[in-house]
Amino acid sequence: MGVLSTIHDHLSELAIEPVIAQFSGIFDLNGRFGVLFLGVSYAVAYGLFRFRRQRGLTDARSFWQFIGGSRVNFHRSALLDYRYYFVRAILKVALVLPIVALVDPHILRGADYMAFFSNLWGARPQLGQNLSLSLLYGLGVFLVSDFTHYWVHRAFHSRWLWAFHKVHHSAPVLVPVTASRVHFVEKLVGKLASAVSLGAYAGAFWYACGGEISRYTLFGVTYLVFICSALAANLRHSHVWLSFGPVIEHVLNSPAQHQIHHSDAPRHFHKNFGTNLSLWDWMFGTLYVTRSTPEAISFGTAEQDAHRYLTLYGLIVTPFVDTARQLFPAARAQAVAPESTETSYS
Ligand SMILES: [Zn+2]
Ligand SMILES: [Zn+2]
Repeated sequence: MGVLSTIHDHLSELAIEPVIAQFSGIFDLNGRFGVLFLGVSYAVAYGLFRFRRQRGLTDARSFWQFIGGSRVNFHRSALLDYRYYFVRAILKVALVLPIVALVDPHILRGADYMAFFSNLWGARPQLGQNLSLSLLYGLGVFLVSDFTHYWVHRAFHSRWLWAFHKVHHSAPVLVPVTASRVHFVEKLVGKLASAVSLGAYAGAFWYACGGEISRYTLFGVTYLVFICSALAANLRHSHVWLSFGPVIEHVLNSPAQHQIHHSDAPRHFHKNFGTNLSLWDWMFGTLYVTRSTPEAISFGTAEQDAHRYLTLYGLIVTPFVDTARQLFPAARAQAVAPESTETSYS
């Protein structure tokens, strides 16, 4: 019984922890190293500010102005993001985690796949735990998580899920906390999708190794997630332009590339869905690379209904209203205010 519960704990940790690392470690300011990464991001921004000011490449007279000043950081949308940050934490505990707990036992785990493969082809010789295997397994966890998130993100730009993801894109200004402006339905789907794909990956890897291998971590986070988070990841949701250059951006997703993803210009629609890696964007034809010269972009959805996303209620309820109208056209016909075009997904 003791062994079983240890295995169960381990598997739960395996399936859910990397997902939490993906969503919380990078984006959440309450992640274990959130404050550290935020500090690193602003330190990088300060370096950029000094560099650009010395060369006359910025009009900003102070660092505060360089990071958007009050116009961005105290914008109505940013103030809403700060409030939503706390509300979504409550929603996570009240809704997301109980649903995950409910579905969790029905998701196939690494051990399930390993047992299946062993029955099919027989057990393989046990390689045992060692550093290289741990690093390799951690690399796979990172790649599988990032790949899954790329496709979940693309799926949420589709007609049927866009209403939920639109909450994230409805922000007209970007501050680091905007990363948490994610509807709980999207969060839930992302967590479950990652649990499913990581379970399959773990099963295949463990079977090949003849037993369980743990991923190599840095301070409890998959090591590559930790490294990518340290690359000024918080500037993705900011008005500070940080490009990695066209070559590196074929593999690593830069803050500037994610800002392009938030652009309301049609030429930027359906570009840069990647989280840590833009390799997937390159592979699947959605890559848009940037240069050190900032592009003049404005953020938002380019749809005429920004007023519907100005309150906490609007962020949480609007997607359900829109989805119901899509599913039941009669309800849409009865809508008092006619909706604008719903074709311009950003
Ligand atoms: Zn998006
Ligand atoms: Zn974003």
